[in-house]
Amino acid sequence: MKIGVPKEIKNNENRVGMTPAGVFELTKNKHIVYVQKDAGFGSGFLDLDYINAGGIILDTIEDVYASSDMIVKVKEPIAEEYPLIQSHHVVFTYFHFASSEPLTKAMLKSKAVCIAYETVEDKDGSLPLLTPMSEVAGRMAIQQGAKYLEKPIKGRGVLLGGVPGVPPGRVLILGAGVVGIQAAKMAAGLGAHVTVMDINMKQLRYVNDVMPSHVVTEFSSEYNIRKRIKDHDLIVGGVLLKGAKAPKLITRDMLKDMRPGTVLVDVAVDQGGCMETTKATTHEDPTYIIDDVVHYCVANMPGAVPYTSTLALTNVTLPYVLRLANQGWEKACEKDEMLAKGLNIVNGRIVYEEIAEAFNWSV
Ligand code: NAD
Repeated sequence: MKIGVPKEIKNNENRVGMTPAGVFELTKNKHIVYVQKDAGFGSGFLDLDYINAGGIILDTIEDVYASSDMIVKVKEPIAEEYPLIQSHHVVFTYFHFASSEPLTKAMLKSKAVCIAYETVEDKDGSLPLLTPMSEVAGRMAIQQGAKYLEKPIKGRGVLLGGVPGVPPGRVLILGAGVVGIQAAKMAAGLGAHVTVMDINMKQLRYVNDVMPSHVVTEFSSEYNIRKRIKDHDLIVGGVLLKGAKAPKLITRDMLKDMRPGTVLVDVAVDQGGCMETTKATTHEDPTYIIDDVVHYCVANMPGAVPYTSTLALTNVTLPYVLRLANQGWEKACEKDEMLAKGLNIVNGRIVYEEIAEAFNWSV
């Protein structure tokens, strides 16, 4: 099969759909891989790395699409990319169709086969191609939070780990899922005192089992949250209700109970945020302050660490890319129901019910 790896053109997107290691695996399996010039540059991969792995560099995005049967990328196609996608293409990428009617209509019109990373599902209901980005965001939440706690950036001026003779800072983590656990691990590693809240006792038991004793768990309720926000320096929002908007656990009136310079990192911002005062920010302008409380609400946190994020993403996508290339999409999806869940649009038809529901269309 001919596989194309275009350069991402969405603003500030430096990740790439395939690493040289992926190209090596595919060419070893007798596939041809076309990589757009400079596609990997933002993630630290040179064209020469791809050539050495067996790839062929093409100058333009048009060349890559025109030469390939399957396109492997990262972000959902943006308007400039719509006309490049044709009926002979299989496109494997994040799509997030339900949040974009124009994209959905464009892909229906293209008659391409669209397989979405975010709906590939494991037997236990987890989303294996989303997990690595939550892992990155969870770890970053503490790195960013620690930075914005510094006084010059209007934080409380607290060093999370403390020093001998001075107690450590306190971190409150809402949600003990992938983001929450990774955040707890980083905060604990810095020596902070960590409180993790969830409504799922199974998750809290797990945290309690695996974390050191300065990470404590507490059932998530409004009463408990109101109590804890008064003396915690950094509050991380990592809750998720599958397929729904995040619940607003931190309300506007709670800000006055926090100490000036408290930092809120709402990782759940991409699902609307779990804090009432959350509004999405960008890496260029990541924070804003309300009532002396610093808010960090970047919707695309992994974009700031494209090297790590690209490797983390392609580690989990490559096995599927190989199967799609070796068997063709129909057979690969027939044999693997987890991959088949990734099928969103096929030949001008929506095959994933929730997308049609999002626009009140019938399937
Ligand atoms: P997850 O499903 O692994 O974990 C979510 C947790 O929230 C679950 O354990 C659930 O029980 C818990 N929860 C639900 N309601 C709660 C409540 N009322 N109180 C406390 N906990 C509650 O999800 P995840 O992978 O950790 O993702 C969390 C969020 O982070 C999602 O919205 C995801 O889209 C987002 N995310 C954002 C970025 C970014 O760049 N901003 C990157 C990756 C993920």
